Amino acid sequence: MMISIKTREEIELLRENALLVSKTLAQVGQNIAPGVTTLELNNIAETFIRDNGAVPAFLGYGGFPYTLCISVNDVIVHGFASGYRLKEGDIISVDCGTVYKGFYGDSAYTFAVGEVSDNTEKLLAVTKESLFRGIKQAVSGNRVGDISFAVQQHAESNGFSVVREMVGHGIGKKLHEAPEVPNYGLKGQGKKLQDGMVICIEPMINAGKKNVKMHDDGWTVSTADGMNSAHFELMVAISGNSPEILSTFEFIEGKNI
Ligand code: MG
Ligand code: MG
Repeated sequence: MMISIKTREEIELLRENALLVSKTLAQVGQNIAPGVTTLELNNIAETFIRDNGAVPAFLGYGGFPYTLCISVNDVIVHGFASGYRLKEGDIISVDCGTVYKGFYGDSAYTFAVGEVSDNTEKLLAVTKESLFRGIKQAVSGNRVGDISFAVQQHAESNGFSVVREMVGHGIGKKLHEAPEVPNYGLKGQGKKLQDGMVICIEPMINAGKKNVKMHDDGWTVSTADGMNSAHFELMVAISGNSPEILSTFEFIEGKNI
């Protein structure tokens, strides 16, 4: 598959999507509390996206039945919203996509529900850090493997493991474009990054072993050993020596807003 290079105008449209996804994740985050069902969170996101004139990208994508992928505790990605009520100590990965003005947005964040164990807190911190280690490598002239290596190195040096079956990706007029952006790999390998590429970097990091289990619904992927997994995703445009991060966690974390 060809890697599509975006114009400045296209990158700005992707940024509009990225910001809407970021704000949607923050809306969801504000409503996360013990007792709330994951279906309620899904519906909050759908309403917010539509109120902003956009369309939920995941709903109906390949037959996926919800606006959000909601993945609780040992679920890694692609979990279904349901009547499950969140409880203190859970973690919930929320992955959100939009379509707006012909372009896509896609980002994810793992939230803690109240107090979580020390190791789970570390899992969340390290997964997010590994995303930013990867983003640092997303500069013109580097290769995809430089991102992959940075993510893997940080996760594994902290005692966690990297999911292999799902990877990051290019994004544009399609939700998933070339190149694939694995969270494991070797420096200097893979496709060369060049200005105008827009990619989603999205480490999925397990507290235990890397092995995964596919559920009978054909979507939900969880850890084989039942231990927790975290997922953080941002959209990044390649632009010279400094990665241009299009989506943001600032609406969630309350910085600079
Ligand atoms: Mg995503
Ligand atoms: Mg993605």
